Amino acid sequence: MFHDTVYIEKRGGILMKEISLYIHIPFCKQKCLYCDFPSYAGKEILIDEYIESLNKEILQKGKDYIISSIFIGGGTPSYLNDDNLNKLLSALNKLNLKDDLEFTVECNPGTLNASNLEIMKKYNVNRLSMGLQSTKDNILKNIGRVHNYEQFKENYFLARKIGFRNINVDLMFGLPDQTVNEWKESLEEIVKLNPEHISAYSLIIEEGTCFYDLYEKDKLKLPSEDEERLMYSYTKKILNNHGYHQYEISNFSKAGNECFHNKAYWKCNEYLGLGVSASSFIDKKRIKNIDNIREYIKRINNNESVEDEIHVNDMKDDIEEFMFMGFRMIEGISIDYFKERFNKNIYEVYKEVIEKNINEGLLIYDSGKLYLSSKGIELSNYVMSDFILT
Ligand code: SF4
Repeated sequence: MFHDTVYIEKRGGILMKEISLYIHIPFCKQKCLYCDFPSYAGKEILIDEYIESLNKEILQKGKDYIISSIFIGGGTPSYLNDDNLNKLLSALNKLNLKDDLEFTVECNPGTLNASNLEIMKKYNVNRLSMGLQSTKDNILKNIGRVHNYEQFKENYFLARKIGFRNINVDLMFGLPDQTVNEWKESLEEIVKLNPEHISAYSLIIEEGTCFYDLYEKDKLKLPSEDEERLMYSYTKKILNNHGYHQYEISNFSKAGNECFHNKAYWKCNEYLGLGVSASSFIDKKRIKNIDNIREYIKRINNNESVEDEIHVNDMKDDIEEFMFMGFRMIEGISIDYFKERFNKNIYEVYKEVIEKNINEGLLIYDSGKLYLSSKGIELSNYVMSDFILT
């Protein structure tokens, strides 16, 4: 049992495990050109049946746990109509939810209105994660987003008016035709709106996306590596100057607004993922649900398993995952906690690797913690590859 797993005595003296819950909504209005997430445009006809099946999976698997956070992601959860949103949120509210539950819904600009926001509020959603990516309409168009910046602002202010006090804005840099100045302007523009949380990811060209094909044909004009590095360094500087503290490689928040749900992933705590393509980590097993929406609906209706891949973690997997995920967090890894969790001293496992990376200026040891230096963050893939156990 992991030490971060909390058991709470619940009604009737039954001990229940506390977990985070991820719900996947695989529908989008249009596929963005860079996106390799399991999300589909043009499958709206399946939404009603999907939500019905998903609710069955939620009630069946979710009832045995205490839920400390919920993240409805996708896809575009805010693309659901009011009826389906009502049904989904009402099913989730039947679970054993913690009083201080963090409940996030991912939303795309242009899909929010007073009606769906009121439904979310009614069903205890207390955090919105808005996928903006850029404040520049030409860039939004280049990457295949369906919205413009004006629509984002309208939705953002409406959400504030309806009472959402915890909003994340997703931004991307390293995009085609994006200049360093444009990126700085996007950041400056967003901080004026004062969201509680900002995620800033650099574009990764993933196989199977439109951008991958264009890249292969040399038709994508991407910023140089130096420019991208500069964009990242401006991100840290501008956000820090405006009261956002960096707590993960790509995540920044105002005091007290770090995302509990994502931290559960980075700390390798247990979570349950429900819906098509969703992943879980529970009872030492990594489980992934099937990808095909029709097959998912069929199997749920036939009371068959929708689990596709199951991997039982051994100690080596656990340690490697703990290191890779832990180094994503700016606070890094606690030497004592490693010992507590794995019943081993970290230096027994990684003495040479730790010393090498400290000597190269990529890792820092301070007050019982090991964390990546600024240079280490830039070369994080290189550092992490050193922590693969043979
Ligand atoms: S809205 Fe999000 S999930 Fe949908 S295609 Fe775009 S990036 Fe992918």
